[in-house]
Amino acid sequence: MLHLKSLSTVALLCLYCATTINAAEIPAPQDIRYPGTLTLSVDLTDLDRRLFMVRESVPVKPGPLTLLYPQWLPGTHGPNGPVNLLAGLIITARGRRLPWLRDPVNMYAFHIDVPADADRVELEFQFASPQTAEQGRIVATPEILGLQWNTVVLYPAGYYTSRISVKADVKLPAGWQFGTALDVVSRSADHVEFAPTSLDTLVDSPLFAGRHYKRVDLDPAADVPVYVNIVADNPSKLEIKPEQLAAYRKLMKEAYALYGTRSFDRYDFLLALTENFSGIGLEHHRSSENVHRPGHFTEWDKNAPGRDLLAHELTHSWNGKHRRPADLWTANFNVPMQDSLLWVYEGQTQYWGIVLTARSALWPQQVAQEVLANIAAAYERNRPGRVWRNLQDTTNQPILGGRRALPFPSWQRTVDYYNEGVLLWLDVDTKLRELTGNRRSLDDFARAFFGTKDKSYEVVTYTFDDVVATLNAVSPHDWKAFLRERLDGHGPAAPLARNSPRFKRRSTR
Ligand SMILES: [Zn+2]
Repeated sequence: MLHLKSLSTVALLCLYCATTINAAEIPAPQDIRYPGTLTLSVDLTDLDRRLFMVRESVPVKPGPLTLLYPQWLPGTHGPNGPVNLLAGLIITARGRRLPWLRDPVNMYAFHIDVPADADRVELEFQFASPQTAEQGRIVATPEILGLQWNTVVLYPAGYYTSRISVKADVKLPAGWQFGTALDVVSRSADHVEFAPTSLDTLVDSPLFAGRHYKRVDLDPAADVPVYVNIVADNPSKLEIKPEQLAAYRKLMKEAYALYGTRSFDRYDFLLALTENFSGIGLEHHRSSENVHRPGHFTEWDKNAPGRDLLAHELTHSWNGKHRRPADLWTANFNVPMQDSLLWVYEGQTQYWGIVLTARSALWPQQVAQEVLANIAAAYERNRPGRVWRNLQDTTNQPILGGRRALPFPSWQRTVDYYNEGVLLWLDVDTKLRELTGNRRSLDDFARAFFGTKDKSYEVVTYTFDDVVATLNAVSPHDWKAFLRERLDGHGPAAPLARNSPRFKRRSTR
């Protein structure tokens, strides 16, 4: 049962609450700087109730104001912000409580009327993190915490989120350690303050904290630091053997060799080895959230399936974060996304995740070949739904309900742009090699398309025509027809190239 000190005060003040607030129009985001800096303090110490306690201060001007809870989340490609888990919202200005009104149509928008004498509003609320998997992803256990900042922030409508500055801080359970791609400006005991950053970067920089923690350097002495921040249910699971470390270090070298750039100024893998914290693989520009089984390192031979996870999420720093489909990029987290290019964003990432896992020796080449054979078999024989639903239409799936279980997945089709996307790109690779006498391949496309700027994490958007133009630059062909046939066609079977990707990188270019 929730008991908050402020409840009695709130009840008293409510006798005087004005109820005249109206649902204003929600202003569209503009590319202008939001005046002032939001401050956001999150207390993560209530492990018993798993409540994330939030205090936020927003600089404002008098008049109508709409605050938004993030709905359309990068990486999930859909309207998945857990607004149903926001609780206890109290808004005040100069110590007086302000009534708020949830927009009658948009459940993620809260309207308030800022009084004439106020220059800030203070927010207090909780993110009631799930206690059971039925309630959502479990992100707080007695040993591990995962903080996605989009769950603990309300922000003013009317501005690009890249133009809103936020200064955040957290209070951690006593003695816990953490990993994040955010810059730390101070730490005293369990209170950590981060450097002010844009709301975009904050939301793109989650934090994993744990009672049991280990930090592993994947690129010692490099000018772009790369770490794996490991948290685990049990400290004995943190052990990583030299050959495992060597393979993950090789993953970085292989990724840099493929793309020719570092798509970040630092990179932090956040990795939880757990059976209590909910599974995730979620990309960010300078970090990623990953979950493996507790025995990922200590029972290595049992854990080959899924070992391509870190390679997949790392690849997204180039494919998805740096190069972003133009219709997927949005000005703030409450503008609807369009997912038409997920067969590039996810399909080619899935492809490189498999290939880079083999190139780095995290998998023997044979395992990677078996993974591809398994995909080919599944999609050649077991997708009768292709007759009514083409690959292109499956890119709408994150908006239709994501990976939620379906009664007839082979007939209804689901997120097929991942693995049928792998087959499509394998087909492109094969065609490039046919056209060029084996001198060029999908490696050349990846380097040209994704590796455009070193040590930068800016976003550069692209369209279908840009994909076609880069393929034509690698080797001229009617790529538009080639791709549209595979995206818009109805069968009878998946695109199956009779070839195998380059599991070994060419030594010369
Ligand atoms: Zn992905």
